[in-house]
Amino acid sequence: MFARISDNKGMSERVIPLIDQRLAGLATIAADSVGGQPVLPTGLLSDALGRPMTDLRISVTDRCNFRCSYCMPKEIFDKDYAYLPHRNLLTFEEITRVARQFVAHGVRKIRLTGGEPLLRKNLEILIEQLAALRTVDGQPLDITLTTNGALLARKAQALKDAGLQRVTVSLDGLDDAVFRRMNDVDFPVAGVLEGIAAASAVGLGPIKVNMVVKRGTNHEQILPMARHFRGSGMVLRFIEYMDVGATNGWRMDEVLPSAEVVKLIHSEMPLVQLSPSAAGETAERWGYAGANGQHDPSLGEIGVISSVTQAFCRDCNRARLSTEGQLYLCLFATHGHDLRALIRGQASDEALASAIGRIWQGRSDRYSELRSSQPPSTGSSQRRVEMSYIGG
Ligand code: SAM
Ligand code: SF4
Ligand code: SF4
Repeated sequence: MFARISDNKGMSERVIPLIDQRLAGLATIAADSVGGQPVLPTGLLSDALGRPMTDLRISVTDRCNFRCSYCMPKEIFDKDYAYLPHRNLLTFEEITRVARQFVAHGVRKIRLTGGEPLLRKNLEILIEQLAALRTVDGQPLDITLTTNGALLARKAQALKDAGLQRVTVSLDGLDDAVFRRMNDVDFPVAGVLEGIAAASAVGLGPIKVNMVVKRGTNHEQILPMARHFRGSGMVLRFIEYMDVGATNGWRMDEVLPSAEVVKLIHSEMPLVQLSPSAAGETAERWGYAGANGQHDPSLGEIGVISSVTQAFCRDCNRARLSTEGQLYLCLFATHGHDLRALIRGQASDEALASAIGRIWQGRSDRYSELRSSQPPSTGSSQRRVEMSYIGG
């Protein structure tokens, strides 16, 4: 697929390959970030709004064995859907090379995601390579992974052995019928619980469990989920259903505000608010109170991620690397920056690091914050990248 682009004055025309239709907006060839004074990695990179880059999410596949309606609705992601061809994916060596430049700029935490990351063959090899990287002050990286849990029971030990520290498992309810309907491939709750138990047994913790709450679909699962994970040592986090991507038919009336989730749980199991555990923490923390009204650590805590009702863009320190090497500066971005073109175009490590630095320095994205002042309409006309492509 190709596009003809005229220059500003209409004097000349160049033909450039469109990397993929799903990018909707044209991917910026990161070459526009090359040249000029190099941006040297000092570990102290910050963007146009003063936000550091400490967190990198790497999507390792755009495929998934689930069809959650809020992410990969079956009608769109059907047997005819054109997933990325294998040659378009960054290889493990390419991912590690580019991750090294991010780390030199200050990244301390890497999360592997997708699609379903456990579908990527030999993922342990990538984890081993990433685990060998060191932060600017010589510390090991915090390496974690988000999974739907379906393959976790089988893979937990190998992941742990490779150097993975923790996992986040997505689970949208405990009622088998509700859960099978939500994943839309008839996968049973028991399979995910088995995965969580296996991860826990091999020490991939502390485990976080993510539940996307969709009003009218699984909101009745909030209390059963809270009861189940209270006192388990795992942190259950409730995520507001987001208007990410362009295929899930998002509607504001299906969003259950986190404040209501907290109120509901508090009415049965009293909660007290806890302070954030780290800068840039997206989840608001609430601890279960003991008989004395204070937080009882043995009962644990929950988190609520209010991406829709309470924007946290001001602290957003996340860079996202898509499966095919596009750097995205926001979950709601309409285009990425093509690092793969640089990697495969023989750019030196210095040039790659400089391009990443310059792209981040120019970042001013704050979609959720702007949305709060101007709510989006259903089915926004600007086509955003899909969650399954960019990772959560
Ligand atoms: N397949 C893995 C999983 O489900 O955990 C990793 C990728 S998935 C895209 C990452 C996270 O994004 C999951 O926790 C999922 O529930 C969440 N997610 C996907 N679509 C969402 C949406 N529209 N709103 C809120 N969260 C969403
Ligand atoms: Fe797959 Fe995760 Fe998206 Fe569900 S949320 S469809 S498991 S990528
Ligand atoms: Fe970060 Fe974009 Fe989400 Fe704001 S909307 S928190 S900038 S990813």
